[in-house]
Amino acid sequence: MLATTLIVAALIGSPFTPRAMVPVTSPTIAITTTPSAFNPQASARASETVIVVVASVAGTLRVDVVTEAEPVYENVVPATLVTAGSITTVTWDGAGAVDGTYGLQVTLVDTAGVTSQALTPVVVDSTAPVVRLGTLGSGQTAVGPVAIRATVKDVSPLTRITLTVDNQLGTTLGTVNVPVSSDGGGGKLDWNLRVRKRLLQPGVYRLRLTGVDGVGNVGESAPRLLRVDRAVKNTIIYSLREAGPAIGLAFDDCVSEQAWLSIIKSFRAAKAHTTFFCNGVNVRSNPTAAGATLAGGHTIGSHTWAHPELPSLSASEQVSQLKGDKEIWWRVAKASPMPFFRPPFGLRNATTDAAAGSEGFAYTVLWDVDPSDYLNPPPAVLIDRITQHARAGSIVVLHVSANTAAAVPELIRALRGRGLEPQSLDEMFGVAAYLAQRNR
Ligand SMILES: [Zn+2]
Repeated sequence: MLATTLIVAALIGSPFTPRAMVPVTSPTIAITTTPSAFNPQASARASETVIVVVASVAGTLRVDVVTEAEPVYENVVPATLVTAGSITTVTWDGAGAVDGTYGLQVTLVDTAGVTSQALTPVVVDSTAPVVRLGTLGSGQTAVGPVAIRATVKDVSPLTRITLTVDNQLGTTLGTVNVPVSSDGGGGKLDWNLRVRKRLLQPGVYRLRLTGVDGVGNVGESAPRLLRVDRAVKNTIIYSLREAGPAIGLAFDDCVSEQAWLSIIKSFRAAKAHTTFFCNGVNVRSNPTAAGATLAGGHTIGSHTWAHPELPSLSASEQVSQLKGDKEIWWRVAKASPMPFFRPPFGLRNATTDAAAGSEGFAYTVLWDVDPSDYLNPPPAVLIDRITQHARAGSIVVLHVSANTAAAVPELIRALRGRGLEPQSLDEMFGVAAYLAQRNR
């Protein structure tokens, strides 16, 4: 089980804290400020505070803003004669005030010359909360409980803290509301990192925290990478009919960096995404194309480290073929080939399926259309073989070669002409690819 600990520490700063900030209870004056925190620079809501003063006796009343340094920082209501039971309403817009806590002080001198005072705090907050995700180190692999440390800094209490979980391509899988403590800062809590009530599948995720303070200012932390790795149930798929009028072209091996970059360029020109199953040795030799694959929003999957016939290997050798591919993707592109795996030549046995599951691959992706592009047929023949056999939800096995790369632009046009939209496996599966089945 993937358990996560989130510790939110509150550091509420206050440049001006008047020493006598404890409100004075006066039998003759009542004062309220609404709201008690505001942003003078806000365009609409909460850009000023409304002060209401009720005097129970007649006399001379004045209202001042006070700070620790200045007995009268600003006079809001000059000395004014009031009658018993009078209500004085005035606004303070905090123009020019530095963020911090200020005192609103009411002074009433009654007709007998007796002075009463009341003081209430109001917070000026024009800055966004500073929210940081701390100890989650890049490279940390979550196989068990994980401590996520967050710090929040603001002059007024926070009302909402949200954790956003994106996959490695920047697709938001969901958000998790983090409880805010009674002092508005937050507290320590232990929880399993569940998104939409499901555990994250193994993979690389980007986490970020958003904090909203009582004034409505929003602060966001820098993103942090979380690597999740654990055993899962492996499922074998040949097509994905539920994906609708989509077709998954998936390019294997990635031997030629030139052909690899050419395919990426063609998909960018066509405003479409696709999938690459590269061998670890080729990811290591072609880091530029590996990086461009992720930057272009394409799905990656594992095709083992060195393209062996897996069933001829021992269980531990099969596992190390997958481990090698996972590690090189992390080292080269801070990315993960999970949850997708395609065995070389499509060759697998029960040991292969068990190895894929134990290494965190939820899906072994085979195909229902094989145009034998490794025999380098002329582009027109290659395209014809695919369009003759492709149906909605088909998955096509292709290779990163010069011949196939040259056919890609026309292949995309031909498929669209038949009502089939080329999509990456991420697009065909949706966010479900990254969320475990319930109770797993
Ligand atoms: Zn292959």
